Amino acid sequence: MQLPFEVFRDPRAMRAKAEDLRRDGRRIAVVPTMGALHDGHVALLRAARGKADVVILTVFVNPTQFGPTEDLSRYPRDEPGDLAKARAAGIDLAFCPEASAMYRPGAQSFVEVRELQKPLCGASRPGHFAGVATVVAKLFHLTQPHLAVFGEKDYQQLAIIRRMVRDLDFAIEIASVPIVREPDGVAMSSRNAYLSPEQRRAARSLSAGLAAAELAFAGGERRAGALVAAARAPIEAEAGTRIDYVELRDAEELTVIEQAERPAVLALAVFVGTTRLIDNRVIG
Ligand code: AMP
Repeated sequence: MQLPFEVFRDPRAMRAKAEDLRRDGRRIAVVPTMGALHDGHVALLRAARGKADVVILTVFVNPTQFGPTEDLSRYPRDEPGDLAKARAAGIDLAFCPEASAMYRPGAQSFVEVRELQKPLCGASRPGHFAGVATVVAKLFHLTQPHLAVFGEKDYQQLAIIRRMVRDLDFAIEIASVPIVREPDGVAMSSRNAYLSPEQRRAARSLSAGLAAAELAFAGGERRAGALVAAARAPIEAEAGTRIDYVELRDAEELTVIEQAERPAVLALAVFVGTTRLIDNRVIG
């Protein structure tokens, strides 16, 4: 039976509702997001809808995962649009807390996934993944899910959450959804809204770089340096881009590898103007 759509803001009320649903034997899925929903998020909601009785969308622009010079205050927000998209996707509940309700004065406990949080985005965004892991752990406690759905676009985040769930014995299944792209290959992202038309064109070079590396791999290239160089070339050819990193890493442990002879992820972060975009592709 479909539940009436409800929006919760109070963490305790959300948890009480989730506990009631569990007592009634409902299977709960949660989809954590920062809102400004696009079709990538909708793919997560649909995947969750197909695997659970009740789907909870969470919308929370989590301050603890933003650095002091990052875009917290101007991060795109569109709650009415998000709720309309959630309803259209057949979602039952939304949890949209205020930051002050999530972090009470004096909060000082954090979850850290020590090694996986270090490289790639963790190296350029100190503290980011501790903020992510902590808020996801809190959202898990408040929504009591059997299942949580995340996107492969945030590859390192997904690896960190899987490891946290394993290490800390959360009884939650983690499902992932492949990257949803615009027709020209650009990975959908709430941050694409920051791009001017010219920057939006330049952003195509990220997926073009990944495709170039994939092509080199298909042609027999296995050396990390050569695959990375293939990915960098189209990005560097574009005015207004600045590479933060392009790296080939072990697909599970995110450790450095010299040869793509086991499953590997080619991950990149690039500033297009002042907007930092990420993308990745698993190869091998
Ligand atoms: P965000 O709102 O950016 O924090 O993302 C919330 C969730 O949506 C995360 O699990 C992301 O990995 C996922 N997501 C964001 N963009 C995409 C995309 N283009 N394709 C698939 N999943 C995505």
